[in-house]
Amino acid sequence: MILVPIGAIARIQALARRLLWHLSQDEPTVAVTASALDESDTPWDLAPDLAPIFGEGHAQEDTRYWEALKAFNMRTPPDDWRDILVSEFIWISFLHLFLHELVHIAAHHDRLLALARTKDPLIPQHLNLSRLRRGMEVQADVVAAENLARFLVLDPAANHQTSEAPEALFHKVSFALSALFGMYDIHRKTVYEYDAGSYPHPIIRYEFVDEAFQTVMRDARPDLVNIAQEHGMNGFVQCAHAFSALELHCMLGMYGRPSPGAQYGTERYVPITTLKYSEAPALRPRMIQDNRLFLEVADLSLQIAFGRN
Ligand SMILES: [Zn+2]
Repeated sequence: MILVPIGAIARIQALARRLLWHLSQDEPTVAVTASALDESDTPWDLAPDLAPIFGEGHAQEDTRYWEALKAFNMRTPPDDWRDILVSEFIWISFLHLFLHELVHIAAHHDRLLALARTKDPLIPQHLNLSRLRRGMEVQADVVAAENLARFLVLDPAANHQTSEAPEALFHKVSFALSALFGMYDIHRKTVYEYDAGSYPHPIIRYEFVDEAFQTVMRDARPDLVNIAQEHGMNGFVQCAHAFSALELHCMLGMYGRPSPGAQYGTERYVPITTLKYSEAPALRPRMIQDNRLFLEVADLSLQIAFGRN
């Protein structure tokens, strides 16, 4: 059975509505944090009002959580045009999450983990459980994105976006997936903190997805390669801009303030996401390493599929 967490969909809906609302305010904004390497000497906390979106470990059966999410959502003014766009973002995010889970199953990840636990010689020794898991997550993201590209672009009759211009489609996919990756893992603030753990840095996750789209276009629709590149970048930049506006308002107190007398003010609430940090040289070698893990895991998946175990 494939489970797409309903909580993630509800969070991305509320987040996307809020990001688009910030963009619609059309105010000047600044990036509060510029680099993926920036370290802050201020202790970091999640702004209280943003907890329903970015907080982790919510129990989905906890009614207080759903009420908090609903209350957050009610504070974003409704708008027909924005809400249509949000419904498309939800569709794209849902497809990506669904395909991601499907890859875990189709690529025999359970079996690989079981073999790793029993120290089966098929699994190279340097691939401990946590490296193996990370390679699996990258594989799930990459293969999901390739299939998402095929589904949305190459087979438009199979989805509801039949009349969608490719420019708009690439822009929306890019915005939706940037927002999705930017929503996760926000407690890890610098690029170094992503060296361990199952998921790479959000920018690296986004890059993998972007490259997967480019690969599919190069193979099947070379006429769309430049359009995918340009409009994908626009979607990412627009999402990063919206996150910057969210953070600026977070610092201005829109999403709550520390109790009076606390040593640090709202500056402790920023940055929220690491997605919008500009390119840092330290990301490149890490992406190469994550790519190597992905290729190793993909090779193991093939060996299992062809009957080695
Ligand atoms: Zn996964």
